[in-house]
Amino acid sequence: MNKLIASTGMKLAYTYLNSNPERNVPKLMDWIDRIAINNAMEGQRKAIRKIIGDKDNNWYKLILSMWTDVDPGVRKAFFNNFVLNENFIGVPIQKKYQEKYGCNIPWAILMDPTSACNLKCTGCWAAEYGNKMSMSYETLDSIIQQGKNLGVYFFIYSGGEPLVRKTDIIRLCEKHSDCQFLAFTNGTLIDETFANEMLCVRNFIPAISIEGFEDATDSRRGKGAYQAAIRAMDILKRKNLVFGASLCYTRYNTEVIGSEEFFDFLIDKGVKFAWFFTYMPVGADAVPDLLVTAEQREFMYR
Ligand code: SF4
Repeated sequence: MNKLIASTGMKLAYTYLNSNPERNVPKLMDWIDRIAINNAMEGQRKAIRKIIGDKDNNWYKLILSMWTDVDPGVRKAFFNNFVLNENFIGVPIQKKYQEKYGCNIPWAILMDPTSACNLKCTGCWAAEYGNKMSMSYETLDSIIQQGKNLGVYFFIYSGGEPLVRKTDIIRLCEKHSDCQFLAFTNGTLIDETFANEMLCVRNFIPAISIEGFEDATDSRRGKGAYQAAIRAMDILKRKNLVFGASLCYTRYNTEVIGSEEFFDFLIDKGVKFAWFFTYMPVGADAVPDLLVTAEQREFMYR
C-alpha cells in the first residue's frame, strides 16, 4: 500500500514538475522527502537539495537541461524507470531481500550480451574471447526478470560491443518497459533507424566510448572510430535522446580526458554524463604500457 501511495505521489509530482521545472523543483523536493519509504535515498535527497539551492551549480543546469534537450517521452521513462522504480521502489525491496537472504542484492546488474565486437582496440580483452560467446535472448530476459523480482530495475550492458545484439536489446527494452537500460558502446552501430527505435522504446541510454579527440581515439580504437562516435552523438542529440560518454584514460590520453576543453567539448556534443575507467591490462594481448602513472591517477581523482 505504501508503495502504491508513493508511486502515485511520485507520478503526480512528475506532472507538477513538468509544468514548470524551474519553479517547481524546490517544492517537489519537499514532497519527495515526505513520501520517501523508510527514508529511502536520504543522502541523495540531501545532495539534490543542496544543488537546487544554487542556480549556477552545474548539476542544477544538468537537471534543467532534461527539459530543454530531452524528448518528453524519454524524460518520463527515465523518471518512471530510474528514479521511481529503481531507486524509490526498488531500493527498499533490495534491502528487504538482502536481510532475508543474508547476501548482497545489486543496485544494478551489468551483463555482456556478447563478446563479439566490430572493432579491435589496442589492449582490449574482448577479442580474446572471440566473437562466438553470446547470451541468448531468453537468458538475458530471464536475468532481467529475476532482477526485477529482487527490486532491480537498472541493467547495464557491456561487452564486446552490445549493439551487435541491437535487435534483441530493443526487444528487451520493449518487454521490460518498466526498466532502465544503459550500454557501453563504441557507437559505430548507432544510425537513424536505431535512434528512432530508441525514441519508440524510450528506456535505452548509450554511453559512447571515446578516448579524447580524433588522433587519440583513432590511435587506440582504429581509423574512423572517432568520426563514428561523433556521428552517433550528432544523431542522438538531434533526436533529443539522452546519452553519455565512456572514457578510458591511459598513459597517453589522461591529460586530455581530464581537461576543461574536453569536458566543454562533450557538453557541447550533447553528452549528459560520463563514466571514467582507468585502463587495466587483462589477457595475453594486454598492453601494460597504457597503464597510467601514479601522478595521472592523482590528477584524475582531483
Ligand atoms: S569497442 Fe570496446 S569491446 Fe570492442 S575492441 Fe574496442 S574496447 Fe574492446
